[in-house]
Amino acid sequence: MSIADNLQKITTQLPDSVSLVAVSKTKPTTSILEAYNNGQRIFGENRIQEMVDKYDELPKDIKWHMIGHLQRNKVKYMAHFVDLIHGVDSFKTLREINKQAKKHDRIINCLLQVKIAEEETKFGLEPSEIKDILIDDNFKELENITIVGLMGMASFTSDDKQVRSEFKTLKTIFEELRTQHYTLETLSMGMSGDYNIAIEEGSTMIRVGSAIFGSR
Ligand SMILES: *Cc1c(COP(=O)(O)O)cnc(C)c1O
Repeated sequence: MSIADNLQKITTQLPDSVSLVAVSKTKPTTSILEAYNNGQRIFGENRIQEMVDKYDELPKDIKWHMIGHLQRNKVKYMAHFVDLIHGVDSFKTLREINKQAKKHDRIINCLLQVKIAEEETKFGLEPSEIKDILIDDNFKELENITIVGLMGMASFTSDDKQVRSEFKTLKTIFEELRTQHYTLETLSMGMSGDYNIAIEEGSTMIRVGSAIFGSR
C-alpha cells in the first residue's frame, strides 16, 4: 500500500471530531510531500532539529506539531513556526516556551503530557501536578502560551483492555479539568497500534506514523 492509500484508509474512517497528525519522524521530505499532495496538512516530529530542517524545505501551509520529549535549550529554534507542542511535562519548559514565543510575538498552543502508562519509561505529569500548574499564579503570567489540552501515551502492550483503561483514565482527567479550564479542547491520544481504541474512548487528535509511512 502506498502512503496515499494508507492515508485515505485512515481519513475516510475518521470522525469529524478527530484530527490526524501524520507522524513523519525519520521519514524523508518526499514521503511528507506525498501525504501533503493527498491533502494532509498536519505533521508531527519528535526531534526539533529535524522538524526545523523539514519546515525550511517544505510548503509553508504545513502545521508542524512537536510530539517528542522537549529539550528546553532547543525550543528557540522552532518558536517562530511550531503550531502545537504536545509533550510539555514541566513548568520550567512552559516558561521557556513562553519566553521564546514572546520574542516572536506569538502565542504557542501546548498540550500537557499526562503519565497514564504503567511503564517507567514514559514521560509525563501526574494528574495532581497538572492541577498545580493550572492554578499557579506564575502560570497565569505566561501570556504567550495557551494550554489547549492534554496528551498521553498508553502502555506498549497487546493487552487492549489495559490500553483502553489507560485512555479512559486520561479522558476522565481531561473532562474533569475542562469544567474549570475552558481553553482545554484537545485530547491527543492514539497511535498506529491503538488509535481505534483511543477514538472510542474520546480522543480528538490521533498521532499516526507507521500506519501511514510504513515502519521506521
Ligand atoms: C512516534 C510517535 C507516534 C507515532 O507512532 P506510530 O506507532 O508510528 O504511529 C505517536 N506519538 C508519539 C509521541 C511518538 O513519538
